[in-house]
Amino acid sequence: MNKNGLGLHIVFTGAPGCGKGTQARILKDKIAIPHLSTGEMLRAEAAKGTPLGLEIKALIDGGNLVPDDMIIKMLSARIDEDDCKNGFILDGFPRTLPQAEVLEEMLSKKGITLDAVIEIQVPDEIIMERILGRYACMTCGAGYHDKFQKPKVYGVCDKCGGTDFYRRIDDNRATVQNRLVNYRALTYPTIPYFDKKGLLRCVDGTGTIEATARKIDDLLAVTKPQ
Ligand code: AMP
Repeated sequence: MNKNGLGLHIVFTGAPGCGKGTQARILKDKIAIPHLSTGEMLRAEAAKGTPLGLEIKALIDGGNLVPDDMIIKMLSARIDEDDCKNGFILDGFPRTLPQAEVLEEMLSKKGITLDAVIEIQVPDEIIMERILGRYACMTCGAGYHDKFQKPKVYGVCDKCGGTDFYRRIDDNRATVQNRLVNYRALTYPTIPYFDKKGLLRCVDGTGTIEATARKIDDLLAVTKPQ
């Protein structure tokens, strides 16, 4: 909430491929607060092809994290934008303990406190299958999966009718393995950190997208400030 006790400020966390992005996009459409994905912000920067963009691209493609100070500056500026005044859904941040500490400090300076950190729990053996099969519409970004979420008409996006799709370069077996190692070593310690602060809420993410979304709705119904 903000200093007037309003808004919803939440973090989605969990291993790569747990469904954070998918769930954040679903929730954003329901409650009309922006979805801030640091991965998407970084991919946009990488696509510019500037020296900074190329540096970011090499880190992402190898499954490594971008330096904390770089991502923190980017996020802080984004949170100051007008559309975040009623809250935001953070996806992919914080990814390290220092990022978690800086986040709280940064938000407190802006008069904001986090309402909840939602961990979507999915075991590693499911994660690999999910990531290796996923792809997205080039035009609107809608997400699909070879097995679990095919478009209604083969090769045509359900949402915008687009016919061009892409797979992320970092969604390959070797890079995903490295991303999982980094998740365990660097990101996982943020889970007990937020738990100690009473902010952690855990959701089983092994069911369908709709089932997980319902669990998140139930959880937020008791979290949302009145
Ligand atoms: P994602 O779209 O969340 O899976 O992120 C894709 C990639 O972007 C990650 O593997 C990292 O290389 C980079 N990235 C995203 N968020 C962060 C962050 N908070 N800190 C450092 N690197 C990040």
